[in-house]
Amino acid sequence: SLILGVESSCDETGVAFVRGNELLGDVVASSVDEHARFGGVVPEVASRAHLEALVPTIRRACEETGHRLADVDAIAVTSGPGLAGALMVGVSAAKALSWALDKPLYGVNHLAAHVCADVLDHGPLPEPTVALLVSGGHTNLLLVRDIASDVVELGSTIDDAAGEAFDKVARVLELPYPGGPHIERAAATGDPQAIRFPRGLTARKDLDKHRFDYSFSGLKTAVVRWVQERQLAGEPVPVADVAASFNEAVADVLTAKAIDACRTYGITDLQIGGGVTANSRLRALAEERCAEAGISLRVPRVRLCTDNGAMVAALGSQMVQRGLPPSSLDLPADSSMPVSEVKAS
Ligand code: ATP
Ligand code: MG
Ligand code: FE
Repeated sequence: SLILGVESSCDETGVAFVRGNELLGDVVASSVDEHARFGGVVPEVASRAHLEALVPTIRRACEETGHRLADVDAIAVTSGPGLAGALMVGVSAAKALSWALDKPLYGVNHLAAHVCADVLDHGPLPEPTVALLVSGGHTNLLLVRDIASDVVELGSTIDDAAGEAFDKVARVLELPYPGGPHIERAAATGDPQAIRFPRGLTARKDLDKHRFDYSFSGLKTAVVRWVQERQLAGEPVPVADVAASFNEAVADVLTAKAIDACRTYGITDLQIGGGVTANSRLRALAEERCAEAGISLRVPRVRLCTDNGAMVAALGSQMVQRGLPPSSLDLPADSSMPVSEVKAS
C-alpha cells in the first residue's frame, strides 16, 4: 500500500510517501529561521508557516516521487502531541484529503512516529524493544511491544526535555538557536572531563521512584551557575569545555538509563530516536555501551531523527500492514496526546 504522511506538530512541515517499509520520497519545509530571533518556537508563527507551506510541500513530494494523490491508499497524519494550532493545520488537511480521495485516515502519535522512523533504514523493529526518545519537547524511555499499538512508558523527564536543555545552555553560552548543533560544534574542541556536571536522578535515593526517569533542570542550573561565577570573577568562559562537559553529562545519563532498562526487562535491542539523536557524542557513547552490554543498537540516519513526514507515513504503514482500523474523520488535534496512545481513535 502507498501511504502519504503529513507532519505539522512543531516547526517542520513534512510530507512523505512510504510503501511498506520503504521511503519513496520525503520533503520538509522548516520555519526554524523565523523563530531563531525569538530564541524558541513561536506557536502563532509556526501555525501560519504550516498554512503557507503545506500545499506546496505536498506538491513537491508528488513531483519528486512521481506519485499522484490519486495513487494513495491511506493517509497518516500527526494527531499529537505538539502545538495545538500547528497540529490543526496538518490534521485538517489530512481529513480533507481523506474525504476527497475516499481513503482511510490514520491519526498517529508523533513520539511513536519518531521511534518508527527507524524501520525505513533498518526494517521491522524487533519486538519487544526498548526505545529512547530524545527530542526538543520530550525525553522518554519506552517499552515497545508493538510499534503500531502497544507502547508502554517506562519513564520520562520530570522537568526539561534533553533538547530543551541543549537550547537553554546554548543561550547561556551565547550560541544561536536551536542550540543542539551549536553546542555539538563548540564541544568538538573542548574537554568533556573538564567540569563534572550533575547527572540527574542517578543518586541511590532517587532510584526507587525514578529509576527510568530523567531530569535536566539541575544540570542546566549547574551550568548557569558555573558560567556566572566565571563572569563575576572577570575570567573568560571556556565555552568549548563547558559545551563538551555538558554534552557528556547528557549523553552519559541518557545512555546509562536506557541500558539499565534493557537489562532490567531482559531486552537485547535498543532503538534511539528524536532530534537530539543527531548528536554525535550521544550516538558514539550509545554504540560503545551497547557493544559492552551485548545490546544491538538501532539509530536511523540523522535526517530521519528530526521532524519529518516520513516517520509519520512509516507508522501509518505499520498500522495498515497489521490491518488496524483507521481513525475516525473527526479525530482531534491532541496537543497532549500520551505516548501510550499510538493511534488516535
Ligand atoms: P517533540 O518531538 O518533542 O515534539 P521537536 O519535534 O521540536 O519536539 P525534534 O525536531 O525532534 O523536536 O528535535 C529538536 C531538538 O533537537 C532541539 O532541541 C535541538 O536543539 C535538538 N538537536 C538537534 N540537533 C542536535 C545535536 N546535534 N545535538 C543535540 N541536540 C540537537
Ligand atoms: Mg523542529
Ligand atoms: Fe519531534
